[in-house]
Amino acid sequence: MEWLSEYNYDYALASIPIQLVLIAFYCSRRNLPIRQSRSFLWVMLINLVMTTSDIVSCEMNEVWTSFPLWLMYAVNMVYFLAFVLRGWALFDYTAEACNSYRVFDRRVNYVLWVPAFVLCGIILSTPWTATIFHFAPVEGYYNCGLYQLIYFNTYFYIAVSLVFVVACWGRTDLRMSLSMLAYNAILIAGIRLRSLFINTLVTSYFSILAILVIYLSAQNPDLFRDKRIGVFNQDAFDEIVLEYLYKRRPFHCVIITIPNYGAARALYGHKQTIRCLELIGEWIEREYSSYYVFTCGGGDFVLLRSGRTDEVTNTCVQGIKTRFARPWKSIDTEVALAVSVICLPYDVIPESITEVDDLIRYAIDHCQYQGKDEYAIISDDMMSKMLRRKAVEHAIGKALAERRFEVYMQPIYGIAERRIVGAEALARLTDDELGPIPPDEFIGVAEQTGDIMELGRQVFDRACAFLEENNVGDLGIRKINVNLSPAQCLNNQLATEFAQIAHSHGVPLSMIDLEVTESAAEDLTSIREQMDGLLAAGTEFALDDFGTGTSNITRLLSLPLHVVKLDMTVVWSYFRGDSTLLPDLINMFRNVNMKVVVEGIETEEMHRAVEEMGCDYEQGYYYSRPLPPQEFVRYMRGLS
Ligand code: C2E
Ligand code: MG
Ligand code: MG
Repeated sequence: MEWLSEYNYDYALASIPIQLVLIAFYCSRRNLPIRQSRSFLWVMLINLVMTTSDIVSCEMNEVWTSFPLWLMYAVNMVYFLAFVLRGWALFDYTAEACNSYRVFDRRVNYVLWVPAFVLCGIILSTPWTATIFHFAPVEGYYNCGLYQLIYFNTYFYIAVSLVFVVACWGRTDLRMSLSMLAYNAILIAGIRLRSLFINTLVTSYFSILAILVIYLSAQNPDLFRDKRIGVFNQDAFDEIVLEYLYKRRPFHCVIITIPNYGAARALYGHKQTIRCLELIGEWIEREYSSYYVFTCGGGDFVLLRSGRTDEVTNTCVQGIKTRFARPWKSIDTEVALAVSVICLPYDVIPESITEVDDLIRYAIDHCQYQGKDEYAIISDDMMSKMLRRKAVEHAIGKALAERRFEVYMQPIYGIAERRIVGAEALARLTDDELGPIPPDEFIGVAEQTGDIMELGRQVFDRACAFLEENNVGDLGIRKINVNLSPAQCLNNQLATEFAQIAHSHGVPLSMIDLEVTESAAEDLTSIREQMDGLLAAGTEFALDDFGTGTSNITRLLSLPLHVVKLDMTVVWSYFRGDSTLLPDLINMFRNVNMKVVVEGIETEEMHRAVEEMGCDYEQGYYYSRPLPPQEFVRYMRGLS
């Protein structure tokens, strides 16, 4: 094709279809309702206008006399306006993408808009003022004195964008920050090349490259969707909530969790359950279109709507509960699921996005733990529990780093020997700010965060150190019991690690009994492997807290356990007269050649009674509370 002007349009023309494809893809999906998404759409539209008006104006300028003068001015003005606004729009996008308002006041942003809009004013006035371009009666189009301003404008916005990126470095996702550096560098290259090859229209080509970088790294709507379930993902939730929080816009969430998700997955299989989540996602989006729907993985959904809770929220909560009463059916699926619904009202929403996520996670865990159909409204109470949990998590991390966990020893009384024959090592944690934290609390938290592995190693190390420093044989102590959490039993390095620790203290593993709970037996193969390794090294195993779980007793007894510890709830319910099970349990375990320890012996009367039942060992406050190691040694010396 023959062009009228001397310009080479190849690059500009090639960029137009790319731009159209990107806009089509971008608009084909429901985008995140945040300013950043809108800002990016502006960047793409302005760039398209700039590219087309660049070609059109260059061509028309060659035959300008064929058109009315006002049209010539209009077409050229559109190009200049688009050129200026493209620079501004990319800056505006960068400011949004790096959440610059967390560093600079929003007003700084608005002030920075001024140069672009002043320049737009100058461009609009150019037919009368001849500042940017003009049409001379004979020669036609020519650039005027302030023409260079449009380039300065672009440089200016790239420079401020870079300042923003650097100032927000660390607060923004690294990938995003790098992408922002990259597209600004591309824009600089574009302008430099444009001024080197004055007859080639390369600016649009570089803009589209920059836009492509943004699209691929941050704005592809698919990045914010869960591929399989089809609804928005956690990243999308964070982006939207971040903007709501910043704008102090009230919002609330309805959280849906499926308490039997794990069980359903095991029963129906992965494919069926995922299909089911897809059906649920579709259903919520259809029924409650005023909510944005997000999946948080593992059968959890969050619904988000601006404004406070109202009638619509109530209808939604009720509707969800009613719908879950029926199975989820499609051609290939019919799955019945339980549901717990939790409402997060605006008044308890924390200030930071991580706290919002933590609170939702905490509420879901809370409902999962309750394990039944629930409707909960998150209250200040739950919020303070969540904060306490965070504080405990922090305290655990700190104590592990400083190796500050202690172990206390609680004596175990041997009925046949008529004296203390062992002790249980119990972890203790005192934090500078929180004071003493009960083990029931920090063990549970450490199990959820994964810190339990290191905690277990440190406790084991302290127990070995105790055995190394004290000649416990002289005190009549044969063994020390150490608790093992179910999570530790899944660590296939456990046997090696414990053998190394014991070896470093010169302690034989045969001086240690490990206490495992029923839930450790859920993964029989794994626990069996660890047990075999440790048994070979001399350690023995006790079953702890019997009577609190719901395990299959045949499975339990298939494990190499030589001692069972009956939980104090079982013991106490016997002495309260609520259950007569205790003597039968003791008999049953003795019949399978296991030694029986009863926990929670607090009075002489209890001691006498369990002695008569034929139990082997006792543990409880009647003998002593758990004691710091040195006090325990004094206690033992006092006895002997
Ligand atoms: P557990 O293993 O069943 O330990 C016995 C708990 O019962 C101890 O609580 C002990 O202080 C308490 N206890 C003993 N006799 C009596 C009594 O007569 N009356 C009453 N009211 N309580 C009695 P503690 O030390 O608070 O530990 C609670 C639980 O935390 C432990 O239960 C154990 O499951 C866990 N735990 C403690 N230390 C560790 C550890 O190092 N690792 C792991 N994985 N868990 C630990
Ligand atoms: Mg125990
Ligand atoms: Mg116990």
